[in-house]
Amino acid sequence: MATAPRRLKPNVFADIIDQEPVIRILRAYLANGTLPHALLFAGIPGIGKKTTAQALAMAVNCLHNTPQAATDTDGRPQTPAADACGHCIACRKIANRTHPDVIRIEPENRVLRIGRIRDLCTQVAMKPYEARHRVILISDAHTMNAEAANALLKLLEEPPDCTLLILTAAERSDLLPTIVSRCQCLRFTPLDRRKLAELIAARQHLDPPAAELAATLAGGSVTKAEALTDADVVNFRRWLLTTIDQLPAQPPAVALAVAEEISKDKTAATDALELIQTYVRDLVVWRYAPKKIINLDLQAAIAHSASKVPVADLLARYEAIQKTQKEMGANVNLRLSLERLFLKLAA
Ligand SMILES: [Zn+2]
Repeated sequence: MATAPRRLKPNVFADIIDQEPVIRILRAYLANGTLPHALLFAGIPGIGKKTTAQALAMAVNCLHNTPQAATDTDGRPQTPAADACGHCIACRKIANRTHPDVIRIEPENRVLRIGRIRDLCTQVAMKPYEARHRVILISDAHTMNAEAANALLKLLEEPPDCTLLILTAAERSDLLPTIVSRCQCLRFTPLDRRKLAELIAARQHLDPPAAELAATLAGGSVTKAEALTDADVVNFRRWLLTTIDQLPAQPPAVALAVAEEISKDKTAATDALELIQTYVRDLVVWRYAPKKIINLDLQAAIAHSASKVPVADLLARYEAIQKTQKEMGANVNLRLSLERLFLKLAA
């Protein structure tokens, strides 16, 4: 039987992977009729916060999940099923992003500006078009500037009827305490490595070692694991780590050239530093617990290099990477910062 394209799959609570504690709480809210006006879903990117928010929007609006539907044959009320059906017109519209009462707000160029929040306030002043519950999903709420956050605060202080606000952010500490205090915060945890490996092996048709490597490098994030299986990313990682491994045997000009190449794109540089960090970590870990290395495919190179560099030097390299990561967050000259780091890695 033909299956629907994956991006349109109406994921319900039962489809969310490895977030049982959060799902249990959400189901209890629904079953007891105690859903708060505002929720904050906190956790690293790519672990199901937005998918869960959408599943919740479906659960509160599913046509097979109405209070009327939840009565027994004598008309006595029963607890509504605490999940959406995933098939009715309301569920499908929400999954297809065509439901007029499920409003999604996302940052533009990494900033959520006040204009979007003002538009939202105008929108919620009117009644929902067709939904029982209007759902407003504000992704990456930590990207709100101060003006936008203050405008949202007014909405949180006087929540409109039949409106559920769901904010997502990596850390609750990234948001103003006044916003956090008005939301019920639910923490999403990174996926278990084995479950993540199984998931991406099935989705991307990968062999088990490739899936396990991506799952290990991704630190529990599904989107990151999927990105790491892209052929370009796989090749870049191999090139980068092999180059780093050989830097000490090369003239300093090579280190400077690599720094220049990587400094061309800040996001790519951030990812590159993370990869190098796992590699240097592995060089240290190899001596004490070789089974716990992350870069499983580079075991031979790690075994070879780990024996040549004293642990104190490796730890100094690790610290230098962390320092560069901090500098990058503080908007210093990226190329100079990377040049300093790569010269240190080459020493
Ligand atoms: Zn439904």
